[in-house]
Amino acid sequence: MNAKLLIAGLLAALTLFSAGCAGQKSVIPTEKIEGSTLYVKKVENLPYDFIMGMDASSVIAEEQSGVKYYDFDGNEQDVFKTLAENGVNTIRVRVWNDPYDEEGRGFGGGNNDIDKAVEIGKRAAAVGMQLLVDFHLSDFWADPGKQFCPRAWEGMEIEEKSEAAYQYVKSCLEKLRKAKVPVRMVQIGNETNGALAGEKTWFNIQYLMQAGSKAVREIFPDALVALHFANPEKAGSYAEYAKKLDYYQVDYDVFASSYYPYWHGTLDNLVSVLNAVTDTYGKKVMVMETSYAYTAEDSDFSGNTIGEGGAYTKDYPFTVQGQANLVRDVIDAVANRMKSGIGVCYWEGTWIAVGHDSYEANSALWQQYGSGWATSYASKYDPNDAGRYYGGCAVDNQAMFDPFGWPLESLRVFNLARYGNEAEKKADAIEDVTLFVNLNDAIELPESVNAVMNDDSKQPVPVTWNVTDADLQRMSTGGVNTYEITGEADGLTAKCFINMVEYNFLENPGFETGELAPWVLTERGSADELYVENKVTDSLTGDWHMHFWSAGANTVDFSLEQNVERLAAGHYKFEISIMGGDAGDTEIFAYVLVDGVEVGRAEMEITVYNEWHTGRIASFEVPEGAVVTVGISVKCSGSGAGAWGKIDDAKLCTPVK
Ligand code: CA
Repeated sequence: MNAKLLIAGLLAALTLFSAGCAGQKSVIPTEKIEGSTLYVKKVENLPYDFIMGMDASSVIAEEQSGVKYYDFDGNEQDVFKTLAENGVNTIRVRVWNDPYDEEGRGFGGGNNDIDKAVEIGKRAAAVGMQLLVDFHLSDFWADPGKQFCPRAWEGMEIEEKSEAAYQYVKSCLEKLRKAKVPVRMVQIGNETNGALAGEKTWFNIQYLMQAGSKAVREIFPDALVALHFANPEKAGSYAEYAKKLDYYQVDYDVFASSYYPYWHGTLDNLVSVLNAVTDTYGKKVMVMETSYAYTAEDSDFSGNTIGEGGAYTKDYPFTVQGQANLVRDVIDAVANRMKSGIGVCYWEGTWIAVGHDSYEANSALWQQYGSGWATSYASKYDPNDAGRYYGGCAVDNQAMFDPFGWPLESLRVFNLARYGNEAEKKADAIEDVTLFVNLNDAIELPESVNAVMNDDSKQPVPVTWNVTDADLQRMSTGGVNTYEITGEADGLTAKCFINMVEYNFLENPGFETGELAPWVLTERGSADELYVENKVTDSLTGDWHMHFWSAGANTVDFSLEQNVERLAAGHYKFEISIMGGDAGDTEIFAYVLVDGVEVGRAEMEITVYNEWHTGRIASFEVPEGAVVTVGISVKCSGSGAGAWGKIDDAKLCTPVK
């Protein structure tokens, strides 16, 4: 950086961080933190005012529960100071209208009302950080699954409700202004994918957004107004939201997205959908929430969203380095690949275990101080989720502090991303190996496995497996089964999953090539979507499956089949699986033709998400030289928003004797 740029940067820094926090000293470093073991590839062109955000909403409830936070030297220290010292410049805080029951008992999730936000804002400001206020406009969690109306607004018509929203947001912001909290951004609604405060039409939603935005413009004219959405992977959804906002002329500055890499598609896709919003409507964009697991282990006796196994994308190892690499890559995508990307907020990096003795001891603290995700007191307001599953923290393994409050090295990514830190290159984790072996064939284990290096590159390293030849022999002849074995590679533990499977005579049986061929698709209807899709969470196994969806009734009608020739004469079986929903009346079946004549049919159904149904023709005879056609036929009348489904894992095998 040349001197002129340096001075410009410092001036920008002074302007930004002196505003509203007169007399308070920033501890945000303006130089690189030295001595870190973390590998961080430099993110080029990072403006000084790029939002390095941390949602720390649960901190006060955590502290009330007895949690202590430390600095890198092991001294107990204000956690906001530790965040600032490592390059975080903005604290995000959620605000619920009234997260308490009639007897004043908190709903949990930090019991975050405006008074907590003021307290957090003051502590953030004291060390030089600004505040990003996240109004859920609900009495408890708002996300794509629920947008409950605050109890005080129940029964109001939209005009009255909008006025209530305006007055509410205004009064909250006045409290922040009175407390001299430097508010950098205010978001109206949280993950508002087509619903807000109980309203489910855009005509009504936009009223509420306008009301909140108006209050922000009046009280904090220099703050940005953000709207926040989730599920960037859902094709066309962001374009649709942005179009509605434009149609209704909603006054906002930032179109923000959640990005949880397990479910939310690729960074390439995120860049593409947010750039489209910038290109079309000139909006700033940012990643409002992201996080990544540094371990698969739970630490507070309350199960986590992410752990060992599970059908979701896992592009980085669950290590401290893997967590930092994800954050670095998201920062890079926003800063360098988005045309008007302004920042990244990490979600709840400070939410950790409140105790280490027992579920009962922790549960008492969650109930008393609201330091778990929900208490039983939220049951009446949110009966189907909080009412059933209330408990502790589901993201403690995605925090940037360990279970005892010590900061993880990954926290330094917010500073080191600006400068880069070329730590010595070394293996950070070993990629799992998955083998599919035909029954009774010899199991050949790989001699090398992929090490994931700390710079996120991969390189093969030799491996020693902890297994004997006799073990392998038993697995080979032990029928259909899955085995997990471990080994050692470069001083780290390697894992191999051995799947003993029946020989499958089909090609591309689970669509894992990403192509349709050699399947033949015959479309008899006019479905809006009918293609091979890459989405691990919607696949029975692997990453790919056949997808269909249609908005209109009676438009889904197709068959999908594959021909197999030159089978040896004998008996075979065929099966294929499907899941889906909203299908109305259906006619779905798996079928087998031998030389064009149907010899077997298995009726199937679709019900709800993640409930797979398998159509199986258990035995049919194939004469020498015959052409066998196996397939699935799908016809849905559709109900509500239209029928959808996923087809996966076809098998044509010889029945095992
Ligand atoms: Ca947990």
